[in-house]
Amino acid sequence: MSTSSVERTTEFAPAVASFLATPVHKSFAGGRWVEAADGQTFDVLDPGSGNKIATVTSMKKADVDKVVDAAQDAFNNSGWATMQVSERAACLHRIADAVEKRIHEFAQIESLDCGKIYAQAIADIQNFIDTFRYFADLSQAVNYRQVIAVKHHEAWVARHAWGPCGFIIPWNFPFLLTGWGLAPALAAGNTCVLKPAEDTPLSALYLCRVIQEQELLPAGVLNVVTGLGETAGAAVSQNPKFRRMSFTGSPEVGRLVAEACGRNLVPVKCELGGKGAAVVFNDVDIAETADKLVQAITFHTGQVCCDATRWLIQRDIYDDFVDECITRMKSVQIGYQFDKDAQMGPLVNAKQRARVLGYLQKGVADGADLILEGGAAQITGKNGFYVKPALLAGSLNNVAAREEIFGPVAYLAPFTTEEEGIRLANDTEYGLGNSVWSRDLQRCARVAESFRAGNGWINAHNVIVHGVPYAGVGKSGMGGGVVSPDTLNDYLRPISVVRPL
Ligand code: NAD
Repeated sequence: MSTSSVERTTEFAPAVASFLATPVHKSFAGGRWVEAADGQTFDVLDPGSGNKIATVTSMKKADVDKVVDAAQDAFNNSGWATMQVSERAACLHRIADAVEKRIHEFAQIESLDCGKIYAQAIADIQNFIDTFRYFADLSQAVNYRQVIAVKHHEAWVARHAWGPCGFIIPWNFPFLLTGWGLAPALAAGNTCVLKPAEDTPLSALYLCRVIQEQELLPAGVLNVVTGLGETAGAAVSQNPKFRRMSFTGSPEVGRLVAEACGRNLVPVKCELGGKGAAVVFNDVDIAETADKLVQAITFHTGQVCCDATRWLIQRDIYDDFVDECITRMKSVQIGYQFDKDAQMGPLVNAKQRARVLGYLQKGVADGADLILEGGAAQITGKNGFYVKPALLAGSLNNVAAREEIFGPVAYLAPFTTEEEGIRLANDTEYGLGNSVWSRDLQRCARVAESFRAGNGWINAHNVIVHGVPYAGVGKSGMGGGVVSPDTLNDYLRPISVVRPL
């Protein structure tokens, strides 16, 4: 394992430097910047240095309820919901244009805020842009008044926006998930209230600043509430004025949000955690496949919900595969997120680091072999939350093989037959993304379709494409999915109109 202290000079763009100098970052509601009534704030840290980078207002229930009222008011009165579809689509393209022009500014903020390697932050911002353009274009192809041919009746289904929609998102892909949430809802004419994670609120607030400065949306169409999960997040989930709710995060909090929405009969979609498997057959190129899986588990320091965390390897190549993985894991360059040589940055916070290190101990106590030790990593001059990648192996009936760790830790186990590989992959409460690796594409198709998961990938992992549904089953999610035509449809309220003839 090599660690690096060679820091690229972090020279922030003037607009970013000025944004970061904001004494207290306020929430954005009804086109204005607002503070919590009790004046409370919380601090945001740079995960790579441990230094404070921002102070942010901490909204409580009464504050949040006012923001939802602003979204309701904008839905009723701003003209957004009734605007021509192509005009709304043009607004979404203007937002994509504005973000594209400032892609480096957004990427600097995102990288600083969540510890993401800078090049990966650029890719996330690009994904946001692509998402806005995808739903802008898709919204213009929807049939908003679909005639239904039935005997003795004139009938049609009309599709309208629902109203205010709530979004609660996690810290691992803050801006990308902001795009996945907002774009379909806005394209359909809804108004939005977004609650970013308390660790990573800055890119969403910067988006509001850009939208406000360039007057890209009517006031109140996009609102961002900042605050802690148990206060601001809970208040968003409990507000009965929402017409749709979208939660992305852990299954534990997903249950709380779904319960609160259930009480109000607000339809909710949950995109939750994962414990993805990679099923690797003996006909693969061992070096190439090991390389791709090591890249996957170290990508964003393993804080990826759909990651391949259980590596199931056909028995006759198991030992060679393990050796290859250990060699590659050891050479991953750990460093500050703006360090040009860094391949893997920090975890998001001290709690997440304690969680990852804790699972290594719990896994060993439960009988696993620690075949690559992992542990805390030190980066000279940086007091951030770094860990080394680790590998566990052994029986899959182990706490570290069953529970989501959310760090650069993979669990290896051998299998013999195709049936056994599929059975082991499916032996989990989660069901987000699994992959199959083989030169035999017929076998790949068969195995991929056998996964009890929302997504089956062939000779690759973490493959998410606009237009292809992405969702989880079981403990990984419910209620729909993202980035496909179905997602846009979720944000359109159908009404059947019938006249007997
Ligand atoms: P988390 O569940 O702790 O927090 C997610 C969001 O919920 C945050 O904004 C948080 O402030 C808020 N929250 C916390 N307590 C709340 C409460 N009581 N009521 C309402 N909101 C509350 O998750 P996290 O630690 O930020 O993110 C990691 C998790 O997210 C992992 O499980 C990961 O797999 C999952 N995830 C899933 C997807 C997906 O697409 N399926 C994508 C990214 C992350």
